[in-house]
Amino acid sequence: GIPGVPLPPLAERRASRRIQVGPVVVGGGAPVSVQSMTTTRTSDVGATLQQIAELTASGCQIVRVACPTQDDADALATIARKSQIPVIADIHFQPKYVFAAIEAGCAAVRVNPGNIKQFDDKVKEIAKAAKDHGTPIRIGVNAGSLDRRLLQKYGKATPEALAESALWEASLFEEHDFRDIKISVKHNDPVVMVEAYRQLAAQCDYPLHLGVTEAGPAFQGTIKSAVAFGALLSQGIGDTIRVSLSAPPVEEIKVGIQILESLNLRQRRLEIVSCPSCGRAQVDVYKLAEEVTAGLDGMEVPLRVAVMGCVVNGPGEAREADLGVASGNGKGQIFVKGEVIKTVPESKIVETLIEEAMKIAAQMEKDGIAS
Ligand code: SF4
Repeated sequence: GIPGVPLPPLAERRASRRIQVGPVVVGGGAPVSVQSMTTTRTSDVGATLQQIAELTASGCQIVRVACPTQDDADALATIARKSQIPVIADIHFQPKYVFAAIEAGCAAVRVNPGNIKQFDDKVKEIAKAAKDHGTPIRIGVNAGSLDRRLLQKYGKATPEALAESALWEASLFEEHDFRDIKISVKHNDPVVMVEAYRQLAAQCDYPLHLGVTEAGPAFQGTIKSAVAFGALLSQGIGDTIRVSLSAPPVEEIKVGIQILESLNLRQRRLEIVSCPSCGRAQVDVYKLAEEVTAGLDGMEVPLRVAVMGCVVNGPGEAREADLGVASGNGKGQIFVKGEVIKTVPESKIVETLIEEAMKIAAQMEKDGIAS
């Protein structure tokens, strides 16, 4: 590919209604955004803002905070005002916090209809308050808290049950002429989740927030999310994503961004093309790839760096990349844009690659190719 020009994604995006979460557009063809959720007590304003700052620095575009108590609700106004990215209040059980969050200036409110008692009689008031403040609502259906009526109808949280639950809740808002909505239907099983979103996508034009809920620890959660989001995004379904991991939220953002980059839904940044190594390797590829990755951490340009263990595929891949090394005989052939620019001893491979990467990055930034 041409540096700075992303390859096309696998499918056209599903046409969805456009909503605005603070300054971030969700749906209507806007780039797929990445979000996460804080793990601090929301009432601890300092700690929450600190975590939001870390998330912002890692590329998070929208952040959600839980609001289980009055103290949390009281903290929302300060957090919403001081956060650099839009804040969504996550409300279960208590309609009164929905009003508090809207009043506090949160960029959106997530409600879980299955968990909001007497929700039905409150919808009219919620719709009015949200409309008055221009606050969108996410209807967040979760397998674990499915509406009892639907649980009885379907026996368990099937894709049909999840989609029907979300659409039914949306219809309650529609009755009050409120359509500033995005929807999620989360399940911990990627297969059920994918099918639920497919059904939902076919039945409405609301923007969709993708998530595999309770996906698990980092490794398992990363794979579940990547597989499920990949299946949906490759069909054009999904407008914003949240990777759920039992790990620090910054990790969720890293994974989310990588998923979008892998699907060409976002300009790739640094990409290390390294071989898996094999019996032919003449250098410690893992160590080399790790050192190069660490050395180039934080690079903002779409640089493709090949790290190859031997001369079989090495020179070919290294030539395809912006920069690369093919190792052999205790030496490394350094390639830049397909040309061998020098051969260095093994001990100098990492520093030479980093040096050359910096030069190319500086040139790319000069040419306006920074992502
Ligand atoms: Fe093996 Fe060489 Fe291929 Fe690496 S580049 S996997 S060492 S053949």
